[in-house]
Amino acid sequence: MMEKSYLDKRKADIQYNLDVINEKIAESAIKSGRRPEDVCLMAVTKTVDPIFINYALDYGVKLIGENRVQEMLRKKPDLHLDGVDKHLIGHLQTNKAGQIVGEVDMIQSVDSLKIAKEIGKQSAKKGIVTDVLLEINVGAEESKTGFSTSEFFENLEEISLIPNIQVKGLMTVPPICENNSELCKFFENMFNIYVDIKTKKLDNITMNILSMGMSGDYEQAILCGSNLVRIGSSIFGPRIY
Ligand SMILES: *Cc1c(COP(=O)(O)O)cnc(C)c1O
Repeated sequence: MMEKSYLDKRKADIQYNLDVINEKIAESAIKSGRRPEDVCLMAVTKTVDPIFINYALDYGVKLIGENRVQEMLRKKPDLHLDGVDKHLIGHLQTNKAGQIVGEVDMIQSVDSLKIAKEIGKQSAKKGIVTDVLLEINVGAEESKTGFSTSEFFENLEEISLIPNIQVKGLMTVPPICENNSELCKFFENMFNIYVDIKTKKLDNITMNILSMGMSGDYEQAILCGSNLVRIGSSIFGPRIY
């Protein structure tokens, strides 16, 4: 059992962190010529105990993200999910697609043509359409999943033809950068692709969500056009694996 005084402190910390983050999101949105409500906050809950996730949900968080299928499915029954959307944000293996399709509101981490097709196939089986984002490896890093920018453009038309998925936008995790101007180049590159595709008329592809920005760089990401930031450690504290 966790002690009450410890739980009270964690709750106060999470609420305080959310106040600070919401304030910074609002400031950055306004600076970039938008309204605070134009930028959506996702609480990233990987490794976080449902007790603490519920503190954030009870305090007004309306969107959560998990990286792993099993972890998402395990925690789900314990969460206060009324009116809350759930997104998968981690790499999805083909053999797990059937388990997650229908269990989340969006899969943000569609990083290959193969997984896009599999999500389509599993969605068809369940008679649903799954909303997805396409993940771009904007820094072309070996260690990261995601379409390279060239693969993204090569595959886009074929993805638009896959039944039972609806592409809603783009997601990225940029490389670790030395300074803000280097980081901004990656974010701006994403924003340009996002705007470029927005003007194209492709079946099943709309560009409404640009998911970029995490604890360390969300203000910068918003200034560069992000409208969904994914924040974990700045809400819940350092992750303990
Ligand atoms: C873990 C994770 C985050 C949140 O990272 P923090 O630095 O803790 O805010 C965001 N996006 C993805 C894809 C993640 O895996």
